[in-house]
Amino acid sequence: MVRVLMLAAGAVLTVWPVHAEDPVVAGTKPSVGVYLDFDSAPGDVAVETMKREVEEILEPSGVTLDWRLAKENRGNEAFTGLVVLRFKGKCRIEAWAPPVQNLAEMGETDTLGTTKVVKGRVLPFSEVECDQVKQALAYMRPDQKDRQRAFGVALGRVVAHELYHVLARTTSHATLGLAKATESLEDLVGPRSLSFREEDSRAIRNSLLGR
Ligand SMILES: [Zn+2]
Repeated sequence: MVRVLMLAAGAVLTVWPVHAEDPVVAGTKPSVGVYLDFDSAPGDVAVETMKREVEEILEPSGVTLDWRLAKENRGNEAFTGLVVLRFKGKCRIEAWAPPVQNLAEMGETDTLGTTKVVKGRVLPFSEVECDQVKQALAYMRPDQKDRQRAFGVALGRVVAHELYHVLARTTSHATLGLAKATESLEDLVGPRSLSFREEDSRAIRNSLLGR
């Protein structure tokens, strides 16, 4: 039986959403409501690019993502799965260039995103550290002019990784692909597309379908 989840209105970050066992629309793709909560919203281009990147990465798992703003949640929509994504820090990209940083001193091991786990159970609350993800922009190629778009791609890759934990309900990591434990900042903005292994995509889908 596929679980249908609904986010309780007005209690986005404190209350675990109400579960209902039914109704399930047979034969449809599992839908995931993704509720975005920004400390400071990035520009529209970055947000739209992030959404496209996540959708592309999640496509092989056969799920549909429905993007919502947490503050506009009325608690009247049902999804097969849901997740609340909080974006912490300064998510807006300034127009001017960042101060030149020594790449060797940059925090390669900084946390980019986290997902809440209580007593071994993965909860649908993830956080993305905008200031840390923004450091990836220092690795942009010289011909890569659009910082908003590059930031959107980087955010999308971090979000997709956290969605893997929430949707597949796992704390474990893969050895390859986007489900592995660490990703270099360089790869976050790199031209090479990042994807999940086939089994990780399958794990996401099967978990949503309750298999
Ligand atoms: Zn992880």
